[in-house]
Amino acid sequence: MSRVIYPEIFSKALSRNEVIAFFTGRDPGIDVSGITDMPVYFPIQEHTGKVFTLGEDLTPVVADAVVTDRKNVLLGLKVADCVPVLLYDPVRRAVGAVHAGWRGTAQGILKNTVQKMTGVFGSDPGDILLAIGPAIRWRCYEVDRDVLDAVVSATGEGDYREDKDGKAVLDLQSANKYQALSVKIQGRNISVAEECTYCYPERFFSYRYSKGPTGRQGGFIGMV
Ligand SMILES: [Zn+2]
Repeated sequence: MSRVIYPEIFSKALSRNEVIAFFTGRDPGIDVSGITDMPVYFPIQEHTGKVFTLGEDLTPVVADAVVTDRKNVLLGLKVADCVPVLLYDPVRRAVGAVHAGWRGTAQGILKNTVQKMTGVFGSDPGDILLAIGPAIRWRCYEVDRDVLDAVVSATGEGDYREDKDGKAVLDLQSANKYQALSVKIQGRNISVAEECTYCYPERFFSYRYSKGPTGRQGGFIGMV
């Protein structure tokens, strides 16, 4: 069953034909040729905190977030439990796509992305619309204590973790939401896809559920 999620937060921009932005499930995964003709730019993801500013050259580089003010190119990310995040600044006209696993989250990759949009495009964080896509959540995502500590040190206080009975669980979607708020993204400008990738293996690829190699779904955003 095809699963394409169009985040509510972009619906106005979508209806004005300013952007195309969506998350996918197992079907169609990262093959979006049935949805749009736009060329897709995938960075080489290595769980870094690095943000790449895409210009004319479409050669893939190592980065886990990409921002651009170019039109007619779709920024793409590949995920299977990690959090995909899409950003759009309708005032300065720029987009961003972020791959936030625990390592990226611990390096503040979403904060880095907002700061890059501010620095390069003059974006005001108060204008940025942000969508957090499907990922593994809460009790489905048990983590080691050092993972929890790394994410907490980058995120600060907030309701995104549980640490009791010798079991630590983490909600990376919520951690990224807190990080977005900390760099002045407005709460009303954030939407979160609630589905857990591990809970719905028939809809989503889940690295943890498959216990090994699996396919990838994606997050995609581009300006028309
Ligand atoms: Zn779950």
